[in-house]
Order: sequence, then C-alpha cells, then structure tokens
Amino acid sequence: MDFENRISAPEYIPEDAEVDNPLRPRSFEEYIGQETVKENLKIFIEAALQRRESLDHVLLYGPPGLGKTTLAGIIAREMGVNLRITSGPAIEKPGDLAAILTNLNSGDVLFIDEIHRLSRSVEEILYPAMEDFAIDIITGKGQMAASYHLPLPRFTLIGATTRAGQMTAPLRDRFGVVLRLELYTPEELAQIVRRSASILNIHADEEGALEVASRSRGTPRIANRLLKRVRDFAQVIADGVITLAAAQEALNRLDIDELGLDKIDRLMLQTMITYYKGGPVGLDTLAAAIGEEAVTIEDVYEPYLMQIGFLSRTPRGRVVTPQAYLHLGLTPPGVQENEQLRLE
Ligand code: ADP
Repeated sequence: MDFENRISAPEYIPEDAEVDNPLRPRSFEEYIGQETVKENLKIFIEAALQRRESLDHVLLYGPPGLGKTTLAGIIAREMGVNLRITSGPAIEKPGDLAAILTNLNSGDVLFIDEIHRLSRSVEEILYPAMEDFAIDIITGKGQMAASYHLPLPRFTLIGATTRAGQMTAPLRDRFGVVLRLELYTPEELAQIVRRSASILNIHADEEGALEVASRSRGTPRIANRLLKRVRDFAQVIADGVITLAAAQEALNRLDIDELGLDKIDRLMLQTMITYYKGGPVGLDTLAAAIGEEAVTIEDVYEPYLMQIGFLSRTPRGRVVTPQAYLHLGLTPPGVQENEQLRLE
C-alpha cells in the first residue's frame, strides 16, 4: 500500500515542512481546541513559574498530527526556556541520550517524539535522569571500567506517543502529568482551516472551510495539507476562492469522500465486508488482507473510523457497523432492502 504518498495520512511527510512552520500555533490562544488539555497545562505552567521550578514531566498521547509537537513548543515558550526536539528511534545508544541530556540548560524542555520506541538500554538511563536529575555512565570494560555520576540540570521531559499502552510501566509512571489529545470536531478544524488560510493568504469562505474541515479525519495536519491542495483547484476553477463547490470538486478528485475517507479506508471496510461478513476480524488477519502493518491500522485508520462510528472493537476482533455499510452504498446484514431507506 502506498502509505507514504497518502494525502490524508496523519503522519508527517516532508511536504508539510514548507507550510508547517508559519502555521504552527505559538501560543495557547492560537492553539485551537483541546480545551481540557490547555486548561490543565496553563495551571501547571503558572504554578511552576510561581515556584520558580521547572515544569513536571509531561506525557502527551493520541493519534499522529493532533498537535503534540506544537504543544511542546508552546510549553517551552510559556516557560521561557529552550526546546530540544528528538525522537525515540533517533536515540540509538545510551551515549546519545547522555549527550543530549548533558547539553540541556536548567529548565529546558526536551521533547521525545515516539517515546514508546526507545530501546531498553536508553530507557534505563532516562529513569534516574527524570527522577533524580543525574545519570551514571560506565566507561571501559573489566578492570578498566569506571563509573561516573553526572548531575544534570533540572529539565522537563515531554514525551509524545501514539500508544501509551505500549510504553513500559516504569517509564509511564515517571511522568507527573499525562494528557490525552482527542480528534478535533469539524467546527474546530474549520477554525484551524480559516486561521491557516489567512496566514497563507488563501481566500476560503465559511462553507468552503467547513467542507475541508469535515474531510480531514479530525486531524489538523491533514486539514492544513488538504487546504493547500484545494487552493490549487480553487485557483483554476473558482477565481481563487475556496467555496463549498470548489472544495467538493477538489476533494472528490483527490478521492477523499464527504467524511474524509480515502481509498485505503474504503478498501479496509470493503475487505472486512466482502471477505469476513463485516467481522469480527482479528487485527493481524485484517493487516495481511489489505497489505498494511497492524500498528498503522491501529494508530492511523482505526481512531477516526471508530470516532465516526464505522468500526467497533470487540474482544474477538474488529466489526464493521451498519452505518459503514450504508456509507458504502451496501445493505447491512439482517436489513431488508426496503428497510434500508428508513435507516438512511
Ligand atoms: P503531532 O506532534 O501530534 O504529530 P504536530 O504538533 O506536528 O502534531 O501538528 C501538526 C500540524 O497541525 C502543526 O504543524 C500545526 O500547524 C497544526 N496544528 C496542530 N494542532 C493545532 C491546533 N490545536 N490549532 C491549530 N493548528 C494545529
């Protein structure tokens, strides 16, 4: 499956970089939605500033593209400290992490994306660093071995993960603040689309913005990406204004339907319906059937399909709901053709 090029994939693709920076909110006021998370963070930040302490370690979890990295930037800015960004897979050896930690200044924020992917040996360095702000480094081997106890500046670790369940308990327990990010509503995404449009000097009317928002799978990163694509169509077919009609035309051509489902979502639902009578289907069986990785299905496709009520998880596997059948123009099992109209 050509996941890398999927325009509605919530994961970062290089194409985002060019538009991303000016669009990234820099303050809580600019950061739309996630009200509970914001309110909590504001209080923790205020309290830490009053006590002149560093902020407690924060774990942010939720599907990709919802604004975890952006929040880390806002937190660092509010605290008036530097932000250092890295990721679980990028830290290969304990020495790599030691080098990063010893270079931090007091109060700095270290952001580790995909923190569930840290190796065990690296994680073990992180425990004392988070708890006691010190690391023990062993150099040499055998009789030449020496151990150094290195104090570290007090720093704030912000960990981000799409899967809190996959983190080891000792790591999870060392975060004082654990916050879950939710998918955004179409109205919140419409605000994000309008904000992004004005920054990028694109004209989008209210209905046009809402149409882009409704097809963005609850994810700001996708909303920004679709906005850019729709702009090109609007330029050619609607005098540069993103109207409802221009957005619909553009998104239909990109094979993204009214609910934001693309070819892969539809393939997944259709496979479950055609070959497994709508489920239950085990995750691995499904992954093999559509040629995707199980983790991608869990992190990327399922959250949105579940949010819109098209898929449910049962102990025996995934099940397609009647709403999904209807959306695909199919008759749900157990429903007579003449009853279908009523359901719709
Ligand atoms: P994550 O780290 O969760 O994968 P990012 O923080 O990189 O996601 O966010 C992806 C993009 O979406 C950002 O570049 C930003 O432009 C936009 N974005 C995310 N959250 C918001 C928000 N609450 N308000 C406005 N734009 C947002």
